[in-house]
Amino acid sequence: DSQLNPNYTFDNFIEGESNRLARAAGRAISKRPGGTSFNPLFIYGGVGLGKTHLVHAIGLEVKELHPDKTVLYVSTEKFTQQFIEAVKNNNQNDFIHFYQMIDVLIMDDIQFLSGKAKTQEVFFHIFNHLHQRGNQIILTSDKSPADIQDMEQRLISRFKWGLSADLQNPDYNTRLEILKQKLEKDGIIFPDEVMDYIAQNIDTNVRELEGSLNSIIAQATLNKREITLELTARTLSKLVQTARKEISIDYIQKTVCEYFKVSMEDIQSKTRKRDVVQARQLAMYFAKQYTKASLASIGSQIGKRDHATVLHACKTVKNLQETDKAFRGYIEDISRKISD
Ligand code: ADP
Ligand code: MG
Repeated sequence: DSQLNPNYTFDNFIEGESNRLARAAGRAISKRPGGTSFNPLFIYGGVGLGKTHLVHAIGLEVKELHPDKTVLYVSTEKFTQQFIEAVKNNNQNDFIHFYQMIDVLIMDDIQFLSGKAKTQEVFFHIFNHLHQRGNQIILTSDKSPADIQDMEQRLISRFKWGLSADLQNPDYNTRLEILKQKLEKDGIIFPDEVMDYIAQNIDTNVRELEGSLNSIIAQATLNKREITLELTARTLSKLVQTARKEISIDYIQKTVCEYFKVSMEDIQSKTRKRDVVQARQLAMYFAKQYTKASLASIGSQIGKRDHATVLHACKTVKNLQETDKAFRGYIEDISRKISD
């Protein structure tokens, strides 16, 4: 069994600027698995942008065009569990042998190998064996090879051997096409102005686009109402608010660190270097703004400080915001990044 989802086909994977390269590479591979220079094919991009869908589509098409080839889709988590199980039962060789027999190996979310030295090592051997024999390897990740943390260098360099292609946020037209297709499949019709409104406003990823459709349909059904622009706007604004609430302190710290080019360790440390102090204070300030966490909880998560320090940080930031124009600019920039 290939573990492929028959619904994730090329036919219903809408093409757009945001996925053109990855999709084209996938198509080429389906025709000649192992026979192109795209080995491995490394597809990366944020959540909900279609990585899993696309690799299933490739697998399904390989099976259709080359019924003799063995295709396997496996999540990296499952691979890891199977390996742990194999070690426990002392049959690692069977595990390795099983994977080395596969013609087209699709491994999803390879970033989950990070920090797992033993699993990385066994995957390294499987990778080498498959690659030497010209078997096709397809990998997905939420980050580019260069950006994956805690991964052996020899694996990272192999990830770059073939083609790395990223999936980006779909543009307006692609979003509209995706919406149309989903509704058509369910046999539902939305007014054009509603479609336009959703495509304009939900610009994060495809999963949220689908989620918003479901919420609107649920709202209309529950209240026995027509699907109108007004109902849509109300439903979507609620969705956006909920998403806001889910911004984590960790995410805020990362965003602030990136902006000021300081490290997370610096922020967590005791250092009093000026730029680090500023970044730390801003992280506290935004945590207060964007989350429901208490001052004490914010303090404990950002550098193990007490609630008084957080309070002081918030006051300092507010003061600077009023008196310092450059600082006001920082706050606006970071705000935008956080709520993006
Ligand atoms: P990822 O693995 O990148 O997190 P998924 O492959 O799970 O994303 O995609 C999320 C949802 O969006 C799935 O239901 C998928 O079918 C849909 N989707 C993503 N990209 C497209 C596309 N280009 N056309 C149609 N549906 C898409
Ligand atoms: Mg996925």
